[in-house]
Formats: sequence, structure tokens, C-alpha cells
Amino acid sequence: MGFDVKGWCPGALRPMLSGDGYVVRVRPRLAELSAAQVLGLCAAAEAQGAGLIDVTNRANLQVRGVSETGWPALMAQLESLGLLDPDVATETRRNIVVAPVWAPGDDTHRLTLELLARLGDLPELPPKMGFAIDAGPGPVLGDTAADFRIERASTRGLILRPEGRAQGIPLAAGHEIDTLIRLAHWFLASGGAAAGRMARHTAALPDWAGASMPPAPARAPLTPGAHALGAVHGCAFGQVRAPDLAAAITATGASALRVTPWRALLLLGATPGAQPGLIWDAAAPELRADACPGAPFCPQASVATRDLARALAPHVTGHLHVSGCAKGCAHPGAADVVITGQDGAFSLALNARAGDTPLHTGLSAGQVLARFGAA
Ligand code: SF4
Repeated sequence: MGFDVKGWCPGALRPMLSGDGYVVRVRPRLAELSAAQVLGLCAAAEAQGAGLIDVTNRANLQVRGVSETGWPALMAQLESLGLLDPDVATETRRNIVVAPVWAPGDDTHRLTLELLARLGDLPELPPKMGFAIDAGPGPVLGDTAADFRIERASTRGLILRPEGRAQGIPLAAGHEIDTLIRLAHWFLASGGAAAGRMARHTAALPDWAGASMPPAPARAPLTPGAHALGAVHGCAFGQVRAPDLAAAITATGASALRVTPWRALLLLGATPGAQPGLIWDAAAPELRADACPGAPFCPQASVATRDLARALAPHVTGHLHVSGCAKGCAHPGAADVVITGQDGAFSLALNARAGDTPLHTGLSAGQVLARFGAA
């Protein structure tokens, strides 16, 4: 079962070629876009792309279906919206996921701004490495990939927790980003580049970085419904039609959008209520299902995924994962029911990851549905 593993993360300046054209990834600063930026992005996605926007599990937005000739015009539109970095190196370094519920001047806001201002002080880390600024009352980004995390400690101070370590380094007030930058330099100096990611780097931490403090208990991610800051809307399989998103921003009077890594969008100042093309019911079966773009959108897929997932989800108890191939991009962990595409057919596994040894192979979509009483 072969699939490509890319050694870098795509961006806007370095798009990724997919089965439906280029995927152009926009990394919101502070996890936020103003309402004007969202409306501009939606218009650009319709004009230069397929009118579809992905909400990724690292809280980025992706415009899909961009042609080679449409990409320069899209770049000009993103530039005018203030959504572009000055160069590829800066875009690559700005791999920061931010806890989406922050307030101006709080620790998450303050530390993200400082890290953004000091990107140039970071060493050249392996290109997939990233940071999580998760300094609210308790960590919410534990399931979101990152190599260095600033989190609330159980003692209410802040810690820097290297991925793979259960405990973090206590941070002195005012020196949080200094310490993060110092640890990033240590990572390279201690041979971390060979490991590629912090979680795989087994070298002992330096003496000055005693990781001795556990994080505060994790907090629950946002789910659809009314929120103190506005309204949270879910996106089935992490995708929304650009016209639906634009209409939701306008209809709810939202002032801005916060992107979360949980396939949910927090519309700031929005009037709560259902909006077409977005999920408002926190119990919707699609929220218990993951499905990658599949065929024809991903060149490595031999099967379509999302229509099957949509039809199957109401009939599956627990977590459903439909994957176009064994790579399992939509959900790297185990799920209760895993349907994986292979050579134009599906395999079925239970309590497994995509690519694990299946119970059944060579199933058609109809046979999969029939097995769950959904045909
Ligand atoms: S899991 Fe899906 S998106 Fe990822 S490579 Fe396979 S088919 Fe493509």
C-alpha cells in the first residue's frame, strides 16, 4: 500500500497539487480573520478555485481547485486582504496553532504576537515542525499536532511542553518566548534534525530546561451552538462551500471568524442559529465521522469517500473514518469503524487505524452500506 509522505506543509506561496488542482493554504494569524477578510477569501475561492474551503485540523483554511493560471490572481487577492506572508521562509516558520478562545491582552494573544514578531529569531527547523500557543485556563490543543507547546500549568503559571513529554518547563513571566526560542535552538544543536520532530527526539533536555510541571487539566474543544463570543458552526468533514460561509458571516452579523482545529468555526459577535451548509446540531452524525477528500480530489485515492461517509455516519455507533487510502490523513488515530480505499474497493476494520489489517476487503460502497443496514 503505497502513498507519498510529503516532507513539508503547503502554504499559499507554496501550494500543493491535488487531484482537483492546487490547494492554497491560508494560515490565519491568531486563528482569526476579520469579516472583510473572510468575505474576500470566499469571493477569491469562487473566482479562482472550486468554491470550496477546507478547515484543516491545524486550524488553517484551504482554497481548493485552483488552476495554475488562477493562482497568481489568487495571490494578488490574498495580498490585498493581508493574508500573505512576505516569503516562503516566513510562511513556513509561521506554523503556529493558537487556542481559538482568547481575549485581547491575555496570555495567548500576547505570546502569539511576540512569537510572530520574533519568527526571525527561530532557527531553521525541519519544515513540518510547529508551535501551539495554548495559554487559556487549560490546554485545548492536546490533540492538535505541534512540537513545542506553551500551556497553562496545573499551578496556574505557564509551561513550555516539548511534544512527547508529559511535563513542561516552568516559564518565567516575560521570558516565555525567549525560552521557546532557546529550546528550538537546543533541538537542532542536540541532533533533532535527524529525528525530524520533537516527539521522536529522545535526547535528554538540557539542564536549564527541567520539564517538571504537568499541564492543567485539558478543556473540551468547541462544538456547534451558541457561545459567549458568538456562535460555533461545524463543517462536515472539514469543508464548507465559500458561498455558504460568506452568507453565514453576513446573515449573522459576525465581526470576525476564529478558525479551530476541530472542524468548527467560531463566528465572533454572531447571532446564534442554524445557517445553510454549516452544522448547528452538536449531535449531528457527521461530527462523529472523518473522511479525507478522496477521489477525484486526491491523486492517491482510488475511491470517493465523503458521500459514503455521509450515508454511513447515521448508522455507525461511535467514530467513523472513511479514508481514500492507507495514509489516513483525515484521522491518524484509531476509530471504531474504519473504511479504507484500496484499488477501487473498500476494506473494513474495527477499532483500527486506516491501513491496519482489515476484517473484510474488496467491498463495494453498496456492500459497505449494506453491512451497516444503510443500503
Ligand atoms: S488518506 Fe485520503 S487525502 Fe490522504 S493521501 Fe490517502 S486518499 Fe489522499
